Amino acid sequence: MKEPSLPGTSLQRACRLLVAFCALHLSATLLYYLADSALGPPGSPEPPPRRPPPANLSLPLSRPPPPASRTRSSPASPPPPGLCPDPSPLLVGALRVEFSQSVNLEEVARINPEVKAGGHFAPKDCIALQKVAIIIPFRNREEHLKYWLYYLHPILQRQQLDYGVYVISQDGEEEFNRAKLLNIGFTEALKEYDYDCFVFSDVDLIPMDDRNTYKCYSQPRHLSVSMDKFGFRLVFKGMRISRPDAIIGKCRMIRHSRDRKNEPNPERFDRIAHTRETMNSDGLNSLSYKVLRTDKYPLYTKITVDIGSPKS
Ligand code: UDP
Ligand code: MN
Repeated sequence: MKEPSLPGTSLQRACRLLVAFCALHLSATLLYYLADSALGPPGSPEPPPRRPPPANLSLPLSRPPPPASRTRSSPASPPPPGLCPDPSPLLVGALRVEFSQSVNLEEVARINPEVKAGGHFAPKDCIALQKVAIIIPFRNREEHLKYWLYYLHPILQRQQLDYGVYVISQDGEEEFNRAKLLNIGFTEALKEYDYDCFVFSDVDLIPMDDRNTYKCYSQPRHLSVSMDKFGFRLVFKGMRISRPDAIIGKCRMIRHSRDRKNEPNPERFDRIAHTRETMNSDGLNSLSYKVLRTDKYPLYTKITVDIGSPKS
């Protein structure tokens, strides 16, 4: 006996067909979606091109210098004609620094014939990227200064800087005023040449790597708190100032006992706390001093100054 054909059978078949079609459509969509999103995650062979970083971050000056070996094998894009390349191709990297042998300055001058009277140098074959005044606060540290000149002149020349070395020597026996000497150095150096960068260096600090370039960097964070006592004003005047790069663990400091008349100032924390109130009236605006003499030695310019009594 033939089963009676149910009125719903063809409808059922049509429904099944529809469900199958929907499933097919769904899986096709799913497959397409997965294939598309697989292009997105990192690690794919050809990620979309990345946007260049903002201009201020991409400035070469704001980057730490790459290791010397890499510099030679893959130099950065060529500099505009005439300008010295950044970083300098003359850098050698880590240096041995020690203070066991005494230094003869005549000998140092002889082995640095390119350094001109007063401690000036500019590269012969290219235009230096920066004109740098190096300011050293000073009093009675002749031995340290000899080491500094012995080590720094060759380094600074390899860094292809247009530079001058200014030793600002405080006359007399009054309290040593490092900050004031730096301000004086800034003022006096600018009278001599249109420097666009100022590096303040202690006489007893020697970098242990010539990639630690004595130049100014473009990122304001380099104008660090250590500059607060004497740096702010300079900043507002649009000057760039800097200290050597923070990889200064690579500096060797000459060991010494504390000098007379350079004891820690008991008021220092209080004064720093009030910098905001005092900064506009204390410093370059009110700088009073007298240049007693200027000596142009073969390796440095020494400016001997009377800075007056501590309150002036
Ligand atoms: N300085 C100097 N004569 C002094 C005291 C200080 O020439 O009698 C200079 C020198 O450049 C020195 C810097 O000031 O490197 C900082 O002083 P100091 O070395 O005493 O500071 P610290 O060793 O405590 O960092
Ligand atoms: Mn020191």
